[in-house]
Amino acid sequence: MAGGFLLRGRIAQGNGTMTRDWNRRTQLVHEGARRSQYGEMAEAIFLTQGFVYDSAEAAEARFLQAGPDEFIYARYGNPTTRMFEDRIAAIEGTEDAFATASGMAAVNGALMSMLRAGDHVVSSRALFGSCLYVLEDVLVRYGVEVTFVDGTDLDQWRAAVRPGTKAVFFESISNPVLEVIDIAAVAGIAHAAGALVIVDNVFATPTFSRAVAQGADVVVYSSTKHIDGQGRALGGVVCGTKAYVRKVLEPYLKHTGGAISPFNAWVMLNGMVTLDLRCTAMADAALEIATALQGDPRLARVIYPGLPDHPQHDLVLRQMGSGGTLLAIDVAGGKEAAFRLLNALEIIKISNNLGDARTIATHPATTTHQRLPDAAKAALGITPGLIRLSVGLEDVGDLIAELKAALAVI
Ligand SMILES: *Cc1c(COP(=O)(O)O)cnc(C)c1O
Repeated sequence: MAGGFLLRGRIAQGNGTMTRDWNRRTQLVHEGARRSQYGEMAEAIFLTQGFVYDSAEAAEARFLQAGPDEFIYARYGNPTTRMFEDRIAAIEGTEDAFATASGMAAVNGALMSMLRAGDHVVSSRALFGSCLYVLEDVLVRYGVEVTFVDGTDLDQWRAAVRPGTKAVFFESISNPVLEVIDIAAVAGIAHAAGALVIVDNVFATPTFSRAVAQGADVVVYSSTKHIDGQGRALGGVVCGTKAYVRKVLEPYLKHTGGAISPFNAWVMLNGMVTLDLRCTAMADAALEIATALQGDPRLARVIYPGLPDHPQHDLVLRQMGSGGTLLAIDVAGGKEAAFRLLNALEIIKISNNLGDARTIATHPATTTHQRLPDAAKAALGITPGLIRLSVGLEDVGDLIAELKAALAVI
């Protein structure tokens, strides 16, 4: 190396003889950090598309086989991006990860990279709209057969998965009605048929995820949500085995252009530092809000997996140890009353993102799920009075007071 900037790799301190069985909170702060010879404390943003080689021979050698701290082009990988990938892989418990420009680039990449015409996929029907588009429109156009099931009904999974099914796909907690899908049970059915289990785990968050131990082979996040956690940057990540990530996924993503910006990867890397603290606080607040609103006569339903009356309460505690950071309320007076409630809110913002530090209220029937036919909305439980709440980091007493005051005006 002819002077200049030298990446010193993951272990920049210590002689390498210490054990590395760090606990989660330590990993969230330190895992994956790479430091240059300047010894910068905060992870650097390597805002560079390309990399310079010391010689023609060095360029040739790197194209033949890039080492762990060698990069070629930011579409393939970048030191800042790599730090984010190493940190999330450590947290999720997978061998490797690949970061993408958005959650949808991650979902699309996870599926398209491994499927070909004639393959069969089984998917849960209650999906984020863009995920549904990939499975229902895109894959089918390329000759992939997709069978949709009610993800909470294990008999439907058993009936749909067959020998030779290539993959199953589902969101472990569905949007917006917060049904919980049993990862271990679905993985058991899928693995018996040799199918890969791909879980979109956004609503579960990496904090409450134990998806890999429960049988998931590939875990996908939109890091736009809780991982950023402050509503700033788009990003996504696919976690899996080294063989899947580097031999199946990376060739597809690096040649089709779904790479994350190094700046956004840096935002995500720093979001992870506070991820557990934020998600734990948000889930505690969600339970408090759900408990405070439960039984209100102006609400037809309060849906929160962490409430004992939720149909999958036992499952969610077994699977995540928490009810998560989102809840939904069904206003008895329908759309008109739901709109009056939304319009009375001040702290709680009307928007459609989730996982933000700011509490967000969404009316799915007229926004995120507007285009679904009424029958499909009804089948998914998206009633005219339904409001989804993504709980943020404000004082929970303020949030409860605001929701109660808003209920009083409807
Ligand atoms: C937001 C979201 C996505 C898509 O993520 P983007 O970062 O917006 O592309 C996929 N799945 C679920 C469950 C989501 O909530």
